[in-house]
Amino acid sequence: MSHDPNCIFCKIIAGQIPSKKVYEDEDLLAFHDIHPWAPVHVLIIPKLHIASMVELTEEHVTLLGRMSVLAPRLMKELGVSNGFRTVINTGPDGGQEVYHLHMHAMGGPRPWLKG
Ligand code: AMP
Ligand code: ZN
Repeated sequence: MSHDPNCIFCKIIAGQIPSKKVYEDEDLLAFHDIHPWAPVHVLIIPKLHIASMVELTEEHVTLLGRMSVLAPRLMKELGVSNGFRTVINTGPDGGQEVYHLHMHAMGGPRPWLKG
């Protein structure tokens, strides 16, 4: 399934739910997390609906690589200059709440809400 009509992030991609976008291209979208844990907190998502890291196969390697390369670029553009954290939560014990693969990229001066 490339798109799940019940998925909140697929709805953001489709423009059915508003988001504060910071980056978009053919394959990826990045937007501010609605409940930030850090002064700067964005989510980087593939436009393809992939529920979690459990679903990943070799065909997704480039996509994941592009998400990883985008994180430091966005942190820099958003003024983060002293390091940042990237997190991908997977499954119930991983604390995943939204089942559309996403990379959290968090930065800015501490203290942070989480961590
Ligand atoms: P996770 O626990 O890794 O699945 O994280 C899901 C993240 O999505 C949480 O940090 C939420 O604050 C964030 N989130 C949920 N709904 C929205 C939304 N409509 N716009 C932006 N961020 C959202
Ligand atoms: Zn989705």
